[in-house]
Amino acid sequence: MFKKILIANRGEIALRVIRAAREMGIQSVAVHSTADSDAMHVRMADEAVCIGPPSGTESYLSIPAIISACEISGAEAIHPGYGFLSENAGFVQIIEDHGLKFIGPTAEHIRVMGDKITAIETMKKLGVPCVPGSGGGVQTLEDAYKFGDEIGYPVIIKATAGGGGKGMKVAGSREEMKSAFQTARAEGKANFGNDEVYIEKYLTTPRHIEIQVFGDGKGRAVHLGERDCSLQRRHQKVFEEAPGPAIDAETRARIGKICADAVADIDYAGAGTIEFLYENGEFYFIEMNTRLQVEHPVTEAIFGVDLVREQIKVAAGEDMSFQQEDLQVNGHAIEVRINAEKLPNFTPCPGKITQYHAPGGLGVRMDSALYDGYSIPPYYDSLVGKLIVHAPDRPAALARLHRALGELIVDGIDTTTPLFHALLAEEDVQTGNYNIHWLEKWLEENT
Ligand code: ADP
Repeated sequence: MFKKILIANRGEIALRVIRAAREMGIQSVAVHSTADSDAMHVRMADEAVCIGPPSGTESYLSIPAIISACEISGAEAIHPGYGFLSENAGFVQIIEDHGLKFIGPTAEHIRVMGDKITAIETMKKLGVPCVPGSGGGVQTLEDAYKFGDEIGYPVIIKATAGGGGKGMKVAGSREEMKSAFQTARAEGKANFGNDEVYIEKYLTTPRHIEIQVFGDGKGRAVHLGERDCSLQRRHQKVFEEAPGPAIDAETRARIGKICADAVADIDYAGAGTIEFLYENGEFYFIEMNTRLQVEHPVTEAIFGVDLVREQIKVAAGEDMSFQQEDLQVNGHAIEVRINAEKLPNFTPCPGKITQYHAPGGLGVRMDSALYDGYSIPPYYDSLVGKLIVHAPDRPAALARLHRALGELIVDGIDTTTPLFHALLAEEDVQTGNYNIHWLEKWLEENT
């Protein structure tokens, strides 16, 4: 097992990894920008190395700075968290070239899944159901019209290098194709340096259902059921739950097996998420994330596992702690994302926390790097906390979430907490009757 690992991230996810490492008797090294000298991950780690100025590109995204921090501190492995360099195949290659270990899959798996077209081709071959679409890249407007007519409108044009909801445009009809095609290409070029796009059938009322998979890199893999992350704003998740209200045990076992078999087939190592749209009882693959997800705690809650511990074990060459038959769903878990944002426009509002109190009690987990007197810097993501509740069933989890939200105090800045109070009062949220468009529509009508 490793003696020391470095965490190439900040905020709550850096704390999450430090916690797992400490329980395993592994020393942790935090890296930080000059803007994060007072950050909680710096205080909690065994060691900390300053790697650059506030801008993410010059610090948390600086590969030379992170590798140097590893060399200086003597860390043997790097955990990337999510975001930043977590899905950067070049970074993984460099880590391997330096004789260090990346806590995650191989550079090759990241590369294949990071390009949406090669990901779809691979999944299709592995027997995973995909959205009807162009399959490969679409180069010209004439071809775009041809696929639009073939697939049938509405269609969605997606940048093959896209992510975070950027580089996607819907064409409701032939008339809208030209502008959607050109905009998706331009967004792909501007945000990801790649203007290749492909076309898919646009599903009008799907849920977002994602399957958590875990592989040992030696041909063995399991699934840990699904998460329903349909409540989204601008394609960004805000409320996630497991199990999914629309998924029964038989459906879970069926799609779970397809996913576990697929990743076993390619000797996938570590945690991964296979994302689907789910409509009228059918699953349609949209993308695979080759990292730990923000919403992984809901899965940890219902299966009683520590996914970060497993990631570290597998990276160190050890076996996973569980087999498929050990993994049984227990109760219901919900996560809400507490962002430093001002409603109704979700405007980022960094600033000084004058008072902070985390909710607690039975079945409540608050993953956050906030503390009294902390100043949230303006340079990074606005996620400042994740409130996760676990209870024997969905109604009890909703009641617990309501109770826990009432205990949360974050003074000095605005947060998205009021949104969740309002959502919990909605009958559709109480019954789990929603799809990926529900929240956008609700926000239009209620703000
Ligand atoms: P990103 O990599 O930017 O997150 P995804 O491919 O994962 O992009 O899609 C993000 C979200 O966009 C999905 O959760 C869903 O809300 C919407 N979406 C993507 N593809 C489709 C589709 N074919 N039909 C309808 N909605 C879609």
